Amino acid sequence: AKSGSPYRRIVLKISGEGFTRSGERGINMASVVALAEETYRAAQSGVQLAIVLGGGNILRGAQFSAGTTSIQPATAHYMGMLATVINGLAFQDALESLGVETRLVSAVPMEGVAEPHIHRRIQQHLEKGRIVILTGGTGRPFVTTDTAAAQAALEIGADILMKATKVDGVFSDDPAKNPHAILYSQISYRDVLRQNLRVMDPEAITKCAEHRLPIVVFNFRRPGNIERAVRGERVGTLITE
Ligand code: UDP
Repeated sequence: AKSGSPYRRIVLKISGEGFTRSGERGINMASVVALAEETYRAAQSGVQLAIVLGGGNILRGAQFSAGTTSIQPATAHYMGMLATVINGLAFQDALESLGVETRLVSAVPMEGVAEPHIHRRIQQHLEKGRIVILTGGTGRPFVTTDTAAAQAALEIGADILMKATKVDGVFSDDPAKNPHAILYSQISYRDVLRQNLRVMDPEAITKCAEHRLPIVVFNFRRPGNIERAVRGERVGTLITE
């Protein structure tokens, strides 16, 4: 492989919001294609890339069940997991239309649509240069795809977990509410947790901290960010010890 990245293997989590226009819901194929193009360019660095997809552009279990008493919370979470598979199908075709080989995996068994989540098989795909799209979250309700991404990164021995989201990184406060919030270029796991900075599931951060897996959080809406992050340039916020 070409050595355009300091990493050998990366898990990149892309929030569902990346699949739609700002403020909208559902899937916007132009947004999906734009993300696929960025991902494709990032993969040209020769790095092994596994991508965990969110589903928030379609449905988030906790929000969905909060609005009604006629659905069980667990059911709503399963709906959220399936939303990530819908995103995965769109993302797979967008990537393959660029000429890159991919595999779609779902942690929720879905024969005929996606491969089962078998970590050794996922690693074999990566070694063959395929981009692996991981959907279905963890396959279990009451967690989010941040946790799924942290687990996947540990499971397949990734060097780093990257989270592409709708904000620039980790701020000292909610930047939507506090205009004086400052963006950290680097912060420790402990400070993120202690200050309750909600940029990623605390559960996911704890898992990464336990295993000293570095995390980078950056904005997918800034063109070129995915490629820059993958090539090891400083973007967003680095979370380490
Ligand atoms: N989900 C779940 N278990 C998982 C991952 C996800 O139940 O392991 C559900 C959960 O309801 C979540 C939804 O799927 O809200 C969509 O995922 P997420 O909210 O993480 O998407 P994102 O915010 O990244 O777009």
